[in-house]
Amino acid sequence: MYYNFHTHTERCFHASGKEIDYVRSALNQGVSMLGFSDHAPFPDKDYGLRMHYCDLDDYLSSIASLAEEYKDSIKLFKGLEIEFMPQYIDYYKTLYSDHGMEYLVLGEHIYMKNETQLRNIFFAQSSDDYIDYADAIVQALDTKLFTFIAHPDIMFINDIQWDNNCDKACEMILCAAEKYDIPVEFNANGIRRGKRMYPDGIRYPYPHMRFWERLKGSKQKVIIGSDAHIPEQIIDNSVKISEDICSSLGLNIIYDPISHKEDL
Ligand SMILES: [Zn+2]
Ligand SMILES: [Zn+2]
Repeated sequence: MYYNFHTHTERCFHASGKEIDYVRSALNQGVSMLGFSDHAPFPDKDYGLRMHYCDLDDYLSSIASLAEEYKDSIKLFKGLEIEFMPQYIDYYKTLYSDHGMEYLVLGEHIYMKNETQLRNIFFAQSSDDYIDYADAIVQALDTKLFTFIAHPDIMFINDIQWDNNCDKACEMILCAAEKYDIPVEFNANGIRRGKRMYPDGIRYPYPHMRFWERLKGSKQKVIIGSDAHIPEQIIDNSVKISEDICSSLGLNIIYDPISHKEDL
């Protein structure tokens, strides 16, 4: 694999390495397209595990100057991994129009259950929460502001038995992805977390095979994302396992989520 569009930096406070360290690691591994998608700040509130809003411009100018410096060997992209919350609709637009963002990855870790209740998908109480989560993703895709969906099956990190809601949540997310032709990400960081026992068996927290088996033989676009939090992870064993699983399922893997529509 010679690309990665899911890359963090030390600016989010739970990753290590500066932008230059990721560029060097990418070059060492023969990567020709590298997208930075660090955890996005919001202008009015710090939701945690993300860069500070005051660092945003420095992050973007750092990528821009590296893009120029290394333009003959690698193509760099300016992006963010960001949650959709309806009250920030103007902010997402501003990121593109005023900050020169090239792509936004929908990484729905926190989401609005309704107009007032903020929820965290890592702490789902029951599979009913998966429906609210899927609904938040559907609303996000309706805006057409997001380039691909990071770890669309991250809810299965919870110790909750598989039931009809699980199937329904998968269906809702994949239906919206198909409707708007948005790629879904097979996330190597879930593989990195390792397998363990869940109520529905021994498995990775995500990617969950019951989600991905739905896409066997489908034209739905799939992108493999390293979700690198240290420079060496850009292409590591977990990325290679991800590639093997995706090809064994015969998924429609794409390499460039930004210009993929023009590629067709
Ligand atoms: Zn992270
Ligand atoms: Zn991420």
